[in-house]
Amino acid sequence: MNTTLKNPFQQTGFLTSAANLNQCPPEEGWEVAFAGRSNAGKSSAINAITQQKKLAKTSKTPGRTQLLNFFSVTTDEHRLVDLPGYGYAKVPLAQKKKWEIFIDDYLRHRSSLCGLFLIMDIRHPLTEFDQSILKWTRECELPTHILLTKADKLKFGPAKAARLKVEQALKTSPLASVQLFSGTALTGVEEARNKLAAWLQLG
Ligand code: GDP
Repeated sequence: MNTTLKNPFQQTGFLTSAANLNQCPPEEGWEVAFAGRSNAGKSSAINAITQQKKLAKTSKTPGRTQLLNFFSVTTDEHRLVDLPGYGYAKVPLAQKKKWEIFIDDYLRHRSSLCGLFLIMDIRHPLTEFDQSILKWTRECELPTHILLTKADKLKFGPAKAARLKVEQALKTSPLASVQLFSGTALTGVEEARNKLAAWLQLG
């Protein structure tokens, strides 16, 4: 194994936040968005991939942030985008609707978007939220990579079974793939980085 290889995501830094499409940075270069139901482990995944403790804010107040947060990887033309999550009863319906319209707009019309990382808690995969995101990405023919997070919470057998179940559900989505991930045990971090680097044309 070559241990001298550097993590291309280590220099990732905050670029800007956007509350609507007009506030997003210019549609130049490449970006990969991260989506996930609140508390699935999205912030922890972004932090593990970039080897930073606080780049994406892990929050004990689920669904708090309603902004898209853009991060520049090596240059401003290579970006990661943290989409706001939701999924808690506490979030008012009107706010959920607003969120859906914004995300729908973003996923359909953002020309620099080259792929989506969809974060699912391995113990509760394919929620209603996940299904609607997968439907969107299938319709838009957007490559989608699923991280089954918190894989450290399951033993090998149940983790493998969860992965198979998701793979079965993806049979009608030719541009979708899935892997096990743990931001705590650092499982699958290199695999996730390789997928991102390929999509973002890095290296
Ligand atoms: P987000 O709302 O999707 O951004 O979720 P967070 O990243 O804030 O994580 C939600 C909770 O799950 C936090 O208490 C994290 O410490 C925990 N968590 C996230 N990823 C993992 C993981 O891979 N393994 C374990 N055991 N816990 C995790």
